[in-house]
Amino acid sequence: MGIGYGATISAPHMHAFCLEAMLDYLKPGNKVLDVGSGSGYLSSCFYQLVKPTGKVFGVEHINELVEFSRKNVLKDHPEFLKESNDEGGIKFLVGDGRKGLKSESPFDAIHVGAAASQFPQDLLDQLNSPGVMIIPVGNSGEDQYLVKYEKDKSAKVTKKNLMGVMYVPLTSKQEQLFER
Ligand code: SAH
Repeated sequence: MGIGYGATISAPHMHAFCLEAMLDYLKPGNKVLDVGSGSGYLSSCFYQLVKPTGKVFGVEHINELVEFSRKNVLKDHPEFLKESNDEGGIKFLVGDGRKGLKSESPFDAIHVGAAASQFPQDLLDQLNSPGVMIIPVGNSGEDQYLVKYEKDKSAKVTKKNLMGVMYVPLTSKQEQLFER
């Protein structure tokens, strides 16, 4: 379903599938990065699992969608939005998620809600050992796969293709708003 600005909210079953695939790493107190947080729905689900001491960072490059996500969470769970870095809670930030959020890394779990056309090295570098990342990979209009990367305690990375998918691209703001 469209949420404006060339973005779509992921289908509910995809959100559920990703949460389940990441569940071992979504324990109370853990730190999660949600790249392309859009409506904020999935970020809230992450916080439900890592609260009260866990932290969720939603990074979204469209300012208006960051506002939208804050409003959505405020409606049902205003207590989820914490502005201080010392407490648990959700923080929505405007930024280019392709670079991750180095200042808050490492993350126990990273979810990417848009398809990367290149190997996501920067994001993988920000993953904790152990940690999990779920990311759709592939160009739009071509084959895209939902990929699960797991980093073990000794930082060894394993990769598993979970299924074929169709996601909006992880791209620049310019391309998303004006060139598609
Ligand atoms: N899980 C979100 C999915 C939103 S769609 C939800 O259910 O609402 C994917 C989102 O990725 C869009 O909101 C889009 O604006 C964002 N996006 C695409 N490229 C991005 C980038 N480089 N940095 C940050 N966000 C990006």
